[in-house]
Amino acid sequence: MGRRWGVAVLLSSLGCVSADTPGASLDGDETASEAVVTDARPAADSESPPMDPARLHADAIVVDGHNDLPWRLRGLWGLDLDPVTFDSRWDEGHTDLPRLREGGVDVQFWAAYVPVRFIGPDAPRVAREQIDLIRRLIARYPQDLELALTTAEVRRIVGAGRIASMIGVEGGHAIDGSIGILRELYDLGVRYMTLTHSATLDWVDAAGDRPQSDGLSDFGRDVIAEMNGLGMLVDISHVTSRAMHAVLDVTTAPVIFSHSSARALADHPRNVPDDVLVRLRANGGIVMVNFFSGFLTPDGARNVVNLFQEEARIRAENPDPAAFAAAMETWYSERISSRGTIGTIADHIDHVVSVAGIDHVGLGSDFDGVPMLPEGMEDVSKLPDLTAELVARGYGEAEVRKILGENLMRVLETAERVSGR
Ligand SMILES: [Zn+2]
Repeated sequence: MGRRWGVAVLLSSLGCVSADTPGASLDGDETASEAVVTDARPAADSESPPMDPARLHADAIVVDGHNDLPWRLRGLWGLDLDPVTFDSRWDEGHTDLPRLREGGVDVQFWAAYVPVRFIGPDAPRVAREQIDLIRRLIARYPQDLELALTTAEVRRIVGAGRIASMIGVEGGHAIDGSIGILRELYDLGVRYMTLTHSATLDWVDAAGDRPQSDGLSDFGRDVIAEMNGLGMLVDISHVTSRAMHAVLDVTTAPVIFSHSSARALADHPRNVPDDVLVRLRANGGIVMVNFFSGFLTPDGARNVVNLFQEEARIRAENPDPAAFAAAMETWYSERISSRGTIGTIADHIDHVVSVAGIDHVGLGSDFDGVPMLPEGMEDVSKLPDLTAELVARGYGEAEVRKILGENLMRVLETAERVSGR
């Protein structure tokens, strides 16, 4: 598969654009922030020796909140899975079965992404096609993958040595304003829905687009109530700060950010501000930290704020896909001076822990949906190195297990209980 193609496909899935009202972000008082981070970490347990990070990683449930491989596959081969050799190692992209295994991934949320150009009656069709593609991919590799619909199924599948595969729909336009379609998506196996992608809908505002509803409309609140009733997680990655608050005002279940980083460290409108992080304590929800360099590094975040408008402009100027991909590569390389490192990812985890608490953080890589990743986190096989970094920073075994996956498991279990199904 061509590199150029890959980049072109990946670009379409990114989140963001111009500024919505930033919430309470830090004023660069890094000393104070550092102090809080240090205090937030429990002292190492002196009675038991620290667990070997590699063994800890292998033993822990490792959950990734967001992988965009399904849209990448569609870009490469349409809806045909015949050319897909997922069980062999690929030179391109971030994800295949051998690398998922090396990365120790136990639970993968696959994104059924619907680009905003399909907003309208076509969006549900595209969502269904992506869900179908994910389900066919899972069925093709029964030794390694199995669809999981509940936490009980996740535990059983992981216990059997397979990767529990879950489905999240990215873009609330997938329901085309219909609660009935929302229920259908649940029946097809969808267990979270990201309320928006890059465009504001008539019921919920997207980060970087013009707000219409002060966060959430009355219908938007109906959608949240229905998701709570179904036990479908409400994913508030990609929405405005106002919409994050509006959802937290009404949801009866914990929310997730399936792939978002901390605004205080990287001031991008798509990242989570501190005044929202604080509210996760009462809500019980989690931020699954995004690995995209443009959402992790301060420079990157500043310089790719208007990513979507720029992408549209560059696409219009470069009708040829290869030329477009090359132009976008140049655009990124001129704007993101540093990819960051695994330590940068850990910095965002530290920050979420310091403001929201150890129970409110997870991992949401955005692998195969982003064009640039930190040094040392080039693909999914590198995940154990993040565990090593967390252990080196003083996190104890129980904390590491929470970050890697137990927090998400708790959120999912709580959502199931709230639904009463
Ligand atoms: Zn996204």
